[in-house]
Amino acid sequence: MKEVTINTCNLCAPLGAAFAFKGIRKSLLLLHGSQGCSTYIRRYMIAHFREPVDIASSSFSENTAVFGGGENLKKGLDNIVSQYDPEIIGVATTCLSETIGDDVTMFIREYYKERPGRRLPEIILVSTPSYSGNYSIGFFKTQKALVESLSSSTGMTNKINVFLNILSPGDIRHLKYILEAFLIDYIMLPDYSDTLDGGAWREFHHIPPGGTTLKKIAECACSKVSLEFSLCMENDISTAFLLENKWNVRARQLPIPIGIVCTDLFVKALKDESGFPCPKSIEDERMRLVDAYADAHKYVFGKKVAIIGQEDWVYSLASFISEIGMIPVVCASGGKSGKMIYLIESLSKMYNYPKPRIHLDFDYDDMEHLLRDYNIDLILGSSKSYKLARALNIPLLRIGFPIHDRFGAAAALSIGYLGSRYVLNNIVNLFIEKLQNDNPVGYTYQ
Ligand code: SF4
Repeated sequence: MKEVTINTCNLCAPLGAAFAFKGIRKSLLLLHGSQGCSTYIRRYMIAHFREPVDIASSSFSENTAVFGGGENLKKGLDNIVSQYDPEIIGVATTCLSETIGDDVTMFIREYYKERPGRRLPEIILVSTPSYSGNYSIGFFKTQKALVESLSSSTGMTNKINVFLNILSPGDIRHLKYILEAFLIDYIMLPDYSDTLDGGAWREFHHIPPGGTTLKKIAECACSKVSLEFSLCMENDISTAFLLENKWNVRARQLPIPIGIVCTDLFVKALKDESGFPCPKSIEDERMRLVDAYADAHKYVFGKKVAIIGQEDWVYSLASFISEIGMIPVVCASGGKSGKMIYLIESLSKMYNYPKPRIHLDFDYDDMEHLLRDYNIDLILGSSKSYKLARALNIPLLRIGFPIHDRFGAAAALSIGYLGSRYVLNNIVNLFIEKLQNDNPVGYTYQ
């Protein structure tokens, strides 16, 4: 048994909190811990989105690590208020502050108490030690903390809550297009489609414009239903279940809509909840995707694939490639909820191929030996799979987060019928390119 992790597939929990707070209007995140945590997270996000990402830190020193970080936190909050004037500040804990046992709830209470009469922003605390959860968990916990702290029922509206998984800004914009095509009045949480993929500004903004407003978060408890894009999260961090249990807002969990089966489930939910038929523009996209499946069949059928990433992404991608006749032979994630296992095993029964090798809490260092035995044709994963793909001379389709060795990750579209077609196009083109590159004379028609 291996006693160390060498190259984990996990990204740290406060990174998920950073994603979520970037999707709230006029918000700023402070990481309660050392500067390295916020530098690491900023570096990952900036390299992926190619946008400025400010994340404050309570900047622990040796003394703070021994005596506690209360005073640093309060100074940090004061600096944020004076420099950014936010409507809301997220405070996410880190491994260090959790390990020393800082009582951050008490620090925040004292912060308000010590500044009577001052106009202060909402401060939302999320506990995100990375040793007990990865970035997906940090993201879902932040969604839940926001709704738990800010939302309360004042009656029922006809709105639909849409609780996102970690998607690209391009995906979020496409989701909005689909919801708007159904004429649905929705509350999306979080929405970082502008803050992490904005245009060129005429004037400087300390906090990029965009994001879900606090008013909308407050209204979540009045909506009639919540759609939540995760089948792999634990129920205790589900915002949809929180609202169902506390405020009787019905909860519907859905897979990330990639491929026909998963997107059909999303479209069916929208038809059910809106009472409207599927708009023609979306039906047309579905028909084009079916046509693309037929056209792509000769390139992709029977190809063996390794999928590496966040559990919900791995499941939806496995479902998608099974539809087009490819076989997911290895499915790996740094997550460890366990739900991905039975979801993927059910795919193997449905599509009649052998059970894939499934790895949770996975280390990239183990994967090279494993993939050599499986004769894989393609890897679907983030840029963290690049070294692996290079060592094995296997094409890599970069998908998910982080993508820091290619350009345009913020605009990537992988969901819905349209996004699935883009993913399919990219897969087929990778196979064609590999055939061309491996051929000693080359050719032009395939
Ligand atoms: S110390 Fe913990 S919170 Fe900080 S960067 Fe490392 S894993 Fe993330």
